[in-house]
Amino acid sequence: MADYLICGGTSYVPEDGNTGAQMFASGEGLTYQDFIILPGFIDFTADEVDLTSALTKKISLKAPLVSSPMDTVTESEMAIAMALCGGIGIIHHNCNPDIQAQEVMKVKKYKHGFIRDPVCLTPDHRVSDVFEVKKRHGFGGIPITEDGKMGSRLMGIVTSRDIDFLEPNSDKLLSEIMTPFDDLVTAPAGVSLDKANEILQRSKKGKLPIINEHFELVALIARTDLKKSRNFPNASYDANNQLLVGAAIGTRETDKVRLQMLVHAGVDVVVLDSSQGNSIYQINLIRYIKSTYPELQIIGGNVVTAAQAKNLIDAGVDGLRVGMGAGSICITQEVMAVGRPQATAVYKVAEYARRFGVPVMADGGISSVGHIIKALSLGASTVMMGSMLAGTSEAPGEYFFSNGVRLKKYRGMGSLEAMECKGNSGGAADRYFHGEGDTIKVAQGVSGSIVDKGSILRFLPYLVSGIQHGCQDIGSKSCSMLRKDLWGRPLRIGYTFTM
Ligand code: GDP
Ligand code: 5GP
Repeated sequence: MADYLICGGTSYVPEDGNTGAQMFASGEGLTYQDFIILPGFIDFTADEVDLTSALTKKISLKAPLVSSPMDTVTESEMAIAMALCGGIGIIHHNCNPDIQAQEVMKVKKYKHGFIRDPVCLTPDHRVSDVFEVKKRHGFGGIPITEDGKMGSRLMGIVTSRDIDFLEPNSDKLLSEIMTPFDDLVTAPAGVSLDKANEILQRSKKGKLPIINEHFELVALIARTDLKKSRNFPNASYDANNQLLVGAAIGTRETDKVRLQMLVHAGVDVVVLDSSQGNSIYQINLIRYIKSTYPELQIIGGNVVTAAQAKNLIDAGVDGLRVGMGAGSICITQEVMAVGRPQATAVYKVAEYARRFGVPVMADGGISSVGHIIKALSLGASTVMMGSMLAGTSEAPGEYFFSNGVRLKKYRGMGSLEAMECKGNSGGAADRYFHGEGDTIKVAQGVSGSIVDKGSILRFLPYLVSGIQHGCQDIGSKSCSMLRKDLWGRPLRIGYTFTM
């Protein structure tokens, strides 16, 4: 506060607006629409604003943006794009566990430093087999090894260019068209990623096989990945340089099997997907996960009160998901008469959770960049979005036209349509019903559609830039400063309505 007065050049400025504590003291529930943040002092440019934020105790993101585990929002394509732009996607669980695990694996395999399990073929395979791999996986750069597996002697490599002018059903042997081992540029096992990248760049090749002293293949590096990492400097990576990804699970006994498959697929964080997270089922599951997979990060929820948060924090969560009835497709507050206006929920839970170092994710009700800034200024570290990201080309589902407008479907996971969808293993219904014997399903969500928003790869940078400009107007040079301002008083808030 003192800084602002000095820069303002006056000796006295009357107190203006309210602090967060004052605003929420009355007990009234507030939504994002009910207040606005007063401007502060600017002594930095917007692109200097650092948006690095904690998703959980151990995972931090360069952009505080998370895509919601909904079947019209997050599958692997969305999760890849979110992670490339510095956020993270949470794969929904309204599908069989093996499909969800495959989606997680697609994200983990997408961007590799070292591709540790590349698809290989033998010299005796045919050109048609390469086309088959290309059709199934999307790539055509295939190391040829003695027995067609990783870890056996490298014989050569086949790339897309070797088969460009051949028929997809050609039965030509790969031994006839591959670049043989003697002509390959390779790197020795144990080479650093930087060094391997340098060799690849110098060689001007598309792939760099890594081999051990017995000439056996131990990994592969793709030039495409090098170029991609240059285009996405803020991408969210794990220690192995693979994109971060989360997945949602329910709290039933059967979800332990699902969890095991997700862990095996390489999931970094699980979101326990309950509309009311303060339950014995969730507490028991948190304890089980902490003892079975101590390294796995857990986001518990949803919660909207400090009392709910306390139980999950005590059980050991690494992050909290906040929101009940705030979502755009949500009718919980009307149907169940339970919930809380989102601004109050975020503030109250964040105010409690920060004492234990547990980051808060504001989930639902985000329909503009301003809402993101408000959520962050109320103590959230990240925001989870559904409708904001539905309608992008990376969201699941096909576009359709209605009255000349290009749309994509967006539906609540508690809508009857999602709970009863074909092939559904019960994931959506589990979020809204705890009892094993629930036979009558009460909808807590609706279905709708969202206009075409183009690609996430362009939309997320727009959101990031918008948040940076908002922080600049407020006078906060980083997300953590924004939160400190909230607890430390200088951030002043004005109501947009008369109390
Ligand atoms: P290609 O030239 O047709 O092989 O395709 P690119 O090299 O342009 O792209 C391949 C992409 O798929 C890269 O991002 C790789 O990291 C990724 N990838 C994942 N698994 C594999 C694999 O088993 N083999 C290959 N070649 N690429 C893989
Ligand atoms: P949005 O960003 O569209 O405002 O809200 C997305 C959030 O709404 C999700 O992350 C989830 O927490 C919540 N949600 C998703 N489907 C439903 C539903 O059918 N009913 C309710 N009550 N909430 C939902």
